[in-house]
Amino acid sequence: MNSTLQNDVLNSDRFVITVELVPGSTYMGAKVDTVLKIAADALADGRVSAVTITDNPGGNPSLSPDVIGREILDLGMDVAVHFTSRDMNRGGIESRALQLARLGMKNILALTGDYSGQGFGGKSSPVFDIDSTILLCFLKTVGGQQLPGNMAPAVFFTGCAVSPFKATEAETYLQYYKLCKKAAAGAGFIITQVGFDARKFQELLLMQNDLGIKLPTLGSIFYLTPRAAKAMYSGKVPGVVITHELYEKVVDEWQSKPRGHEASVNRCAKLASVLRGLGYRGIHIGGVHRDFATAQEILDRMEQIQDNWRDFLPEFDYPQKNGFYVYRRETAEVVSSAPHLNELSEQAALKEHLHYAFLKKTHDLFFSSDSRFSSSLKKLSRTLDTPSRESILLKCLEDPGKKLLLGCLRCGDCGIQHLGYLCPESQCPKHIRNGQCGGSLQGMCEVHPDRQCVWVRAYKRLARQGRSSELAREFVPPRMWELNDSSSWLNFQLDRDHQSVSCSIANYCGSQNRCVRQDELTAKTASITLLNTRRP
Ligand code: SF4
Repeated sequence: MNSTLQNDVLNSDRFVITVELVPGSTYMGAKVDTVLKIAADALADGRVSAVTITDNPGGNPSLSPDVIGREILDLGMDVAVHFTSRDMNRGGIESRALQLARLGMKNILALTGDYSGQGFGGKSSPVFDIDSTILLCFLKTVGGQQLPGNMAPAVFFTGCAVSPFKATEAETYLQYYKLCKKAAAGAGFIITQVGFDARKFQELLLMQNDLGIKLPTLGSIFYLTPRAAKAMYSGKVPGVVITHELYEKVVDEWQSKPRGHEASVNRCAKLASVLRGLGYRGIHIGGVHRDFATAQEILDRMEQIQDNWRDFLPEFDYPQKNGFYVYRRETAEVVSSAPHLNELSEQAALKEHLHYAFLKKTHDLFFSSDSRFSSSLKKLSRTLDTPSRESILLKCLEDPGKKLLLGCLRCGDCGIQHLGYLCPESQCPKHIRNGQCGGSLQGMCEVHPDRQCVWVRAYKRLARQGRSSELAREFVPPRMWELNDSSSWLNFQLDRDHQSVSCSIANYCGSQNRCVRQDELTAKTASITLLNTRRP
């Protein structure tokens, strides 16, 4: 049976409303009571399809969304639990998915998650065994459903997140390319990151259309207090963007508490109206932590003003400094009725390009099934496949070369070919194999802000070849931990690594990827590819 959220999102004319709840780090007391009360009041209000419950927000431990979610479900309010892949390895993730299925929790928002935060006795270890794309694919297999040959309905209705509020060309396209993969991996709906730029909100819908991502999308609105605005403005909430101009405005509004509250409610109602006008399937309300009354005010206000949504567009014109947009702004209008693609300009510098070109050439010669040396290399690999010979190969050749060029950690299941010949294990702190996380800022890594995000580097490397859209076209299976500390060269040649062993996973995780298959690309997507190939 479908959940209320699933029915409302897929089968009704209703403008879908969800409210995000944040359980605290206690198992009882005022915070828990407040969360339950908001859910009960949302149910009584009748306009909310589901509440969503965060999963250790900011990487910091809090009450499990599964437990309090079940209590809320028992009240009669539908629930979507946030499910990050940060804190558990795939064994723990599988177990949690079974638990959720058993508990009757149908809706899941699948996320990679912010980097790890503080736990008992210090900082938690970052697990990141699989990324959100792989998580989405895994969730559709729970209970054996949707494995090849079994067309039983999926246990879960899964959603994914996207951040259209990126400042650079690379990050912007990377977000949309990853969305292609998430859609193909089984996402049933999309929720945006928090932002206040109507042009970016429109960009997402246009890109979904261009890329053939026909998923219902909920836009996030957030009740801004000065405290929340400050945290977002200072970059403490990964992926959320508040410009200096908006931050100053919020601080000024809250000089008086009633005026600040009024302005914040109005901003939410107006942005919700804009999202509805643009064609969003619904809204996701965040920042309402004390009671449901604020959400109620937002919804009441929205009902009064929603038809005038075009009048509010100038209030959501917050471009980032030198911020990139996929579509050109040709008039003074905030959103465009006939958008044209912007020129692309980001490319890898010569040093990066040479590193890429050298590794690609080497890879094509020695690690491709099409290579003319393929059969001799396989033969040689069979000869070297003893513990003592493998150890000599690793120490004398593979380790020194790969450490120098890639910072190799000897995972034994090399994935550099999926990332512009950069290493997802040593160079991405979240070990993501299927696209950039939402936490990068101005092209820099969420975890190491002094380093460029490795996916941005990969985009620029491929962009120099006019091939950046390839980053949308391939589902990369999870790393095979059984190969840890062994020779990735032998594992490839002897068909032991993810490229051969896990290829069946890739088939059902990405087989419907409209962004992947050239023959199914829409005319507009083809024009994006064309633009890529025509770059100077
Ligand atoms: S390298 Fe990029 S994808 Fe990896 S954690 Fe940093 S920002 Fe996220």
